[in-house]
Amino acid sequence: MNEHANLSADLIAPLLSWFRSVRRPLPWRETKDPYRVWLSEIMLQQTRIEAVIPYYHRFLSEAPTVKDLAELPDEMLMKLWEGLGYYSRARNLKKAALTVMEQHGGALPRNFSALRALPGIGDYTAGAIASIAFGLPEPAVDGNVLRVIMRLTGREDDIALDATKKAVTAWLREIYPDGEDAGDLTEGLMELGEKLCLPAGAPKCSECPLASQCVARRGDLWRQLPKKSPKKERRIEEYTLLLLCSEDGVALRKRPSKGLLAGLWEFPMLAGTFSEEELTKRLSSLGIKIHSLTPCGTSSHIFTHITWNMHGMRVLIDPETLPEEFGAFFHPARLRDEIAVPTAYRYFVEQILKEDF
Ligand code: SF4
Repeated sequence: MNEHANLSADLIAPLLSWFRSVRRPLPWRETKDPYRVWLSEIMLQQTRIEAVIPYYHRFLSEAPTVKDLAELPDEMLMKLWEGLGYYSRARNLKKAALTVMEQHGGALPRNFSALRALPGIGDYTAGAIASIAFGLPEPAVDGNVLRVIMRLTGREDDIALDATKKAVTAWLREIYPDGEDAGDLTEGLMELGEKLCLPAGAPKCSECPLASQCVARRGDLWRQLPKKSPKKERRIEEYTLLLLCSEDGVALRKRPSKGLLAGLWEFPMLAGTFSEEELTKRLSSLGIKIHSLTPCGTSSHIFTHITWNMHGMRVLIDPETLPEEFGAFFHPARLRDEIAVPTAYRYFVEQILKEDF
């Protein structure tokens, strides 16, 4: 076991002064409006800052308040989120907005536990909203913060374990300030993890405001810390994706209401891969009258635990013979202007939009 240090309140002042000197102007940093802070935190999950900015502005122009979000039609919500991925985030935002209207009079609750109880808000997001918007002494611990704290203290706890995250949150809570310092400490810790205490490659310790207190720096331990047990391998799933086309457009259907991309539009897919002959047989057995069948490329999409390999087949069919389970025909212009199809299918949407109907 290494020499390790306890977290000390001495880290707060240098970290705050460093963060305030490097803080970039970002749209959600110009406000303490809890709704805007919440929206930005949800959009920033698994998404780069630069990608989020235009979505953030567009979303707020359609839904500037919690009430507007609660009343936003689902199709509009999905269209505003189209391209950001992880669509359950958008659905949970609306669910939470409805709860805020019903149970909290339209204003986000000024309380960690009540925030944590809202759909789509976990410990991290509740801590971020509580500290940034309300100035409450609540830490927000993500992977960046865990890395910084483990290096600072020299501790070897496995950061893949929930118990480690809980322990780090508890250590931080003991020293957390309130008021404006609370939000700046939350953002400062994250920024330090992103900009200096890097996840890959050597940390920039010479620029770090906490260097004099850091155990990893003293012992040159950054390669060993943090400790993390390996993730399970991602499962690979093969699909045949059908672009079923006719003079009426292309077939789309809604995905099941539970699971990956729940309730969103998709092109019909069959599990597994098929030769042209096998696919002709399979579709004919469903009563589909096929005029032509052509492979149209393969695209992969990586989810957290699964990779989809989608092998496209463009099938020109008699529209009268489309089975109900494969949805209905939509004119491609509606795909462009109105219907939000998840990013996972972008390659095939682009193929359809290139065609003349
Ligand atoms: Fe990370 Fe280096 Fe700062 Fe320690 S001194 S927290 S290792 S950047």
